[in-house]
Formats: sequence, structure tokens, C-alpha cells
Amino acid sequence: MGCCGCFGFLKKSHRSLSFRGPGGQFSLEFLLPQSIEDASMSNGDSDSGSRRRGRSSEEILLARVRNGLICREVPVKETRKVTFSEDENGNKMVNEYVREWKIGSGSYGKVVLYRSVKDGTKYAMKVFHKSHLLKLRVAPSETAMTDVLREVSIMKIFDHPNIVKLIEVIDDPHTDNFYMVLEYVEGKGVCEGSCPRGGIGESTSRRYLRDVVAGLMYLHAHNIIHGDIKPDNLLVTNSGNVKIADFSVSQVFEDDNDELWRSPGTPVFTAPECCLGSTYSGRAADTWAVGVTLYCMIVGQYPFLGDTLQDTYDKIVNNPLDLPDDMNPQLKNLLERLLCKDPKHRISLQAVAEHPWVMEEGAIIEYMCHCRRRNCSQISSP
Ligand code: ADP
Ligand code: MG
Repeated sequence: MGCCGCFGFLKKSHRSLSFRGPGGQFSLEFLLPQSIEDASMSNGDSDSGSRRRGRSSEEILLARVRNGLICREVPVKETRKVTFSEDENGNKMVNEYVREWKIGSGSYGKVVLYRSVKDGTKYAMKVFHKSHLLKLRVAPSETAMTDVLREVSIMKIFDHPNIVKLIEVIDDPHTDNFYMVLEYVEGKGVCEGSCPRGGIGESTSRRYLRDVVAGLMYLHAHNIIHGDIKPDNLLVTNSGNVKIADFSVSQVFEDDNDELWRSPGTPVFTAPECCLGSTYSGRAADTWAVGVTLYCMIVGQYPFLGDTLQDTYDKIVNNPLDLPDDMNPQLKNLLERLLCKDPKHRISLQAVAEHPWVMEEGAIIEYMCHCRRRNCSQISSP
């Protein structure tokens, strides 16, 4: 089959997949990330059609690694040999990992719970078939493989308590399977099965929001745009901490210029400026998605949802934000500023972190990553 090259840094692209809405009640096309077919109608830019100019995410990441600008102290393990076997109970094994059960479906593969026989630690493995990835065209000159490789190369560099950690990549050139071994986040997603009308309550929503903001501020400070912030991609540990997952449509920039022009994220979480088809700031679009997520957690439904995809986009662009009259005024103020249609006037994540509603539990503590501790003030590569 051939090694897919995940141990280097390859090019990027675009993808699609499912979304469980608050309460699980929605399953319409506009709750899904945009389709692969749609992606293939992009203008032909080599970098998935979503970046206007500049070096690709992979080139930037490669330069960062060369310059030692990585946050991880423990590098991702890279394994080039896969052995399939069974344990004494007949459970399937991949190297030292015993298969337990499927925990999720991914855009291009599945997510399965495995347990290490070495120490019993559980891991979530994203399992892909390389032949399948190579057949899925996501942009004129790219396949789904580029998305997976970009996700791997991004996850290799960072380290933050509110971001899911990549532990190991298994890519044997003699087999079709490709595995991303991730730390297992055992709890539910921030809204999974628990965002009924009325939401999950102010104090839980605040706690979750603080974690999301901490993780996302870290990403933005390192010039990484997540691109698909939504409850499904925000996993909650048993102790109630949120970890941001799913970097399959993320983008890396060299500096503060984060100009994008097609949003590969999920329609109901798409910012108005992205619906209009013009260029937009990736950071501000992530911030809008944080606003939609907070709204979902508080209200238990989407702020802008139409009967068709176009109707949903029309509502995102044109409809005023409707908030319950009896909502806490500080929370109302925060939601209005997060879901501000004009990205230039939208609140920044730093201002969210300092907002009175968020500060009710004190300041969000900035995590000192390895590259900062080493005094790497210049994050972008020369
Ligand atoms: P996709 O890009 O296809 O959406 P995700 O990375 O979001 O893939 O994974 C799909 C689903 O699998 C998630 O929504 C979540 O339910 C589950 N999942 C992914 N990673 C983990 C993890 N590290 N721990 C627990 N569950 C996970
Ligand atoms: Mg996902």
C-alpha cells in the first residue's frame, strides 16, 4: 500500500461529516460540514481552495519544527510496523492495543476505543484506510489523505491541557490501515444528549466556555485556526474539563494575517462573513463559532437555523439575534458581542476571557507552553 508520508509534512485540504445537534434532534445537511463535492468546486487554489496566498500549513509547520518552535516536550511516537493479533479472549489487537468498542464515526474513518496491554491505558484511535482516503477528492488537486496528514502534522506540535493530545501515529507501508492514537476523553461532548431546550445551565456553560477559550487562545497565539468549533468537537473529561478535538480542517498561518476564503466548517456554526463568500479572518470566524456553541449550551438550540442550507445562511447573515428576555444581562451582552455580524466589531477572545460573565470564576490562567518557556517569543518562522 505504501506509507502515506505522515512522518513528514505534506499538503492540506478539506472534508465533511456528521454532526449531532443539541439533543440530537437535527440531522440535516446544514448541520454537516460542507460536502466533498462542494469542495471540488473551489477555484483551483492548490491549498484546498480556502487560503488566498502564502505558504501552505505544512510548509509553515515544517519550518517551525526546523526552528524548534514546537510546544511538545514528548514527541509523537511514530510506528511503521503494524501487527494484527488477538488477545486470550479473542479480542482484536493492533500492536499492543486491544480493541474495545467503536466510540464515534469520523468523516473519513471511525474512532475506536483501544486499551494498551502494557499499562491498561485507554486510547481513542482514529482508524483510516489509505486506499479510501486516496480515492476521496476534496479539492481539484487533493484527496482526503491531505486532510488527515495535515491534522497529524498540526497535532504533532502542540501541547495544551484543553486540547486532545496525539500520542502515536501507526503507518505501516505494507498495510492499508492508518491509525492516529489519541488520548481518550472518556466523558460526553459538551452538548451530547444533554442540550435540551433550556440548555445545560449557566455555570456548566461558563466552565466549558472558559476551557474552550483557553484552548482556542493558545491555538490562535500559535497562528492556528481550528475551523470547526462546535459541541461535537469539544470533548469533556470525567472531571469536567473540555478538550478541543478534530483538527481536520485547521489551518496554520505564519503571522497575524489569517485570511481565508471558503469555510469548510459546519454550516450552522459558520460566520456571516463566510456565508457571503468573501475573504474572512479565521480567528474571528472561530470566535463566532464559540458564540454559536455558547448559545447552544445556554438555550439548547441553534441561533440561526433555516429549512434549507440557503435559508440557514440567510438567517445567519440577516436575522437579528433573538435572546430570552429573562437572560442574565452579562451573558446577554457576551452572546451579542460574540454573535456580532460584523467581524471587525466582534469581541476578541482576549476580551471574552476578561468579560465579567466569564470572570465570575476569576481570570483564565494562561498556560505556559514549552516553546514559550524556552523564550521563543517569535512563533512564526523566519
Ligand atoms: P471528524 O473529523 O470525522 O469529525 P473527530 O475527530 O471529530 O472526527 O472524531 C469523531 C468523533 O469521535 C468525535 O465527535 C467524538 O465523539 C469521538 N472522538 C474523537 N476523538 C476522541 C477522543 N480523543 N476521545 C473520545 N472520543 C473521541
Ligand atoms: Mg468532528
